Amino acid sequence: MVDKSIFEMILDKEIESEIIYEDEDIFSIEDINPAAKVHLLVIPKKRINTINDLEQRDGDLIGKMVLVAKKLAKEYGIEESGYRLIWNTNKDAGQTIFHIHLHLLGGEELRTF
Ligand code: AMP
Repeated sequence: MVDKSIFEMILDKEIESEIIYEDEDIFSIEDINPAAKVHLLVIPKKRINTINDLEQRDGDLIGKMVLVAKKLAKEYGIEESGYRLIWNTNKDAGQTIFHIHLHLLGGEELRTF
């Protein structure tokens, strides 16, 4: 049996966290260690360990996650000032939670790369 991810524990109320958005497939929380003034995580309820594990049938879910990020960017008032969406995958990208999540960063000028 695979250990639960932190995000599954949040969903199951085993770890306290304020869920700022939820629908049948997706939820969102504020990042506990924000890397920008606005730093949200958009997370599928379904556990998928990394982007490498995505299957064709997950395409709609990924599209929906981006649409949720767009909606939250508007709600947080950063749609015009700008924001960045990031998926970290595995070690070199610094992925620490092996349950895919989309980072939404903004609210200030972000360093370019
Ligand atoms: P990643 O490095 O892409 O795997 O991102 C994991 C993110 O989850 C990091 O930015 C962490 O700060 C964040 N994080 C870890 N635990 C929690 C938590 N309990 N609530 C909210 N964010 C968390």
